[in-house]
Amino acid sequence: MTAVGLLNWNSNQHYDPKAKPCTECGTTTPLRSHAGEAVHKVCAEDWNDRNPNAARYEHEGRDLGTKRFHSDPPRKNGKEGAH
Ligand SMILES: [Zn+2]
Repeated sequence: MTAVGLLNWNSNQHYDPKAKPCTECGTTTPLRSHAGEAVHKVCAEDWNDRNPNAARYEHEGRDLGTKRFHSDPPRKNGKEGAH
């Protein structure tokens, strides 16, 4: 298994009610990447799988995916102190 699997795109910045064609598969989607690209989450995950050498996105030392398609940084709820 590779390290990074599914992206966490829970934040509402990933949802735009105006559907646009996905940059990967061409089917319309309301989902947006962090950079505002219209892309399904599964298509973004697939792109990450197919581009293992793409530049990585790190947040506080954690690998969250590629710079193009990465997960939301973990929320600071004060309770997650798993250090
Ligand atoms: Zn797609």
